[in-house]
Amino acid sequence: MKKHWRCFVCNDIHYGIKPPEICPTCQVKNAYVKTSSAEAETICGGAEAEKVDFNKDIFLEAIEKFTENNEFQVNPDREKVNLLLEGIFNNEKNHGLKYCPCRLITKDFKEDLKLVCPCNFLIHSTYKEKGECWCGLFKRRK
Ligand code: SF4
Repeated sequence: MKKHWRCFVCNDIHYGIKPPEICPTCQVKNAYVKTSSAEAETICGGAEAEKVDFNKDIFLEAIEKFTENNEFQVNPDREKVNLLLEGIFNNEKNHGLKYCPCRLITKDFKEDLKLVCPCNFLIHSTYKEKGECWCGLFKRRK
């Protein structure tokens, strides 16, 4: 079944059974995370798609899968992850997209696309220095 996928680096949206290994827009490898059709449509005015009710469990499953071939993992601290997911889903309810739970949106849609979770956290100083994204949802594997 075809699904929507979003590149966590440049927000490229792909619709297909599997995401491309390399993002055709920003050329980053293993960059796609499964996303909801609602999110894809908000980002790019997307096409018809399977309607997936993206609850927290499905989102967690998607980001776990996304980390499989990457150098990072979802934080093993499940209590922390649950709190962050709560914030992400509250942001979606209140502001339309799954924005980062620990940063403020600017209300500039293009700018705020950089805050859709997972964001391009590999460029964050916290990831480079401490091995985790700003909020600690993702951690570098040991
Ligand atoms: S900093 Fe972490 S929690 Fe926040 S959007 Fe980026 S990946 Fe998600």
